[in-house]
Amino acid sequence: MTINLKDQYVCTVCSYNMVGYLPERCPFCNAPKDKFITAEKCSRDYDVQETPVIDSVTRLSSVPKLGIEHASYQINKDNKTYQIDCPSSFDTSIKPMDEIIFTHFHFLGASNLYRKYFSSKVSIHQSDSDFKLCRGFSFDNTFQTSFIKDGIEAVHIDGHTPGFTCYFFKDVAFICDYVLFRNNRMIFNPFGPQTRTVKGGHHLKQLLDERNINKICGVNYVMDFEDWYPRYKSLLESKSG
Ligand SMILES: [Zn+2]
Ligand SMILES: [Zn+2]
Repeated sequence: MTINLKDQYVCTVCSYNMVGYLPERCPFCNAPKDKFITAEKCSRDYDVQETPVIDSVTRLSSVPKLGIEHASYQINKDNKTYQIDCPSSFDTSIKPMDEIIFTHFHFLGASNLYRKYFSSKVSIHQSDSDFKLCRGFSFDNTFQTSFIKDGIEAVHIDGHTPGFTCYFFKDVAFICDYVLFRNNRMIFNPFGPQTRTVKGGHHLKQLLDERNINKICGVNYVMDFEDWYPRYKSLLESKSG
């Protein structure tokens, strides 16, 4: 399988992949052109590291650290491999994924390359499928409602992006960058409409309360629910006062 890695560029500041074009400035983080490397060089210089979260769930991250890449997670269920979000570097040694499902359109990683190499199907909520940053990326399925498939539950919560979708599998919740830690303080992701983000945040709390969750898989951390949840509750309370 020949994959064209010469005509794709990776921003080393934010890790965004530009498919088929080199911009003057990164449309995501505004870094200048000289901060980009080809996907070919990226693939040579970076590996994707797999770290177990629980039995059947693995975290994937590029090493060395690639900008502000968002962690992605593989779920193995009945001989099928699902991947929530996608690494920015292209490493063919990772476990082939049957499907890549996105939380939202930020950080589509090298999903177009994995899709081609592993013949994976890529899904994203329809409301997140048509942004400029999606240029050059293919989606095989744009869903419009929440769904459950092979024990993976996808729930659309809107907020940070219009199509933002969180996922639940067993006792694990996948919320990507819905909240971030800044100087050890939890905040809602500031890049997005704040009122809607808080509203989606209440929905997320309700979803968490209805389930038996033990682990939170986030943008750059995996945390025990019992440590994460009190901070989340305080954050929500601080927004409703
Ligand atoms: Zn960038
Ligand atoms: Zn985001």
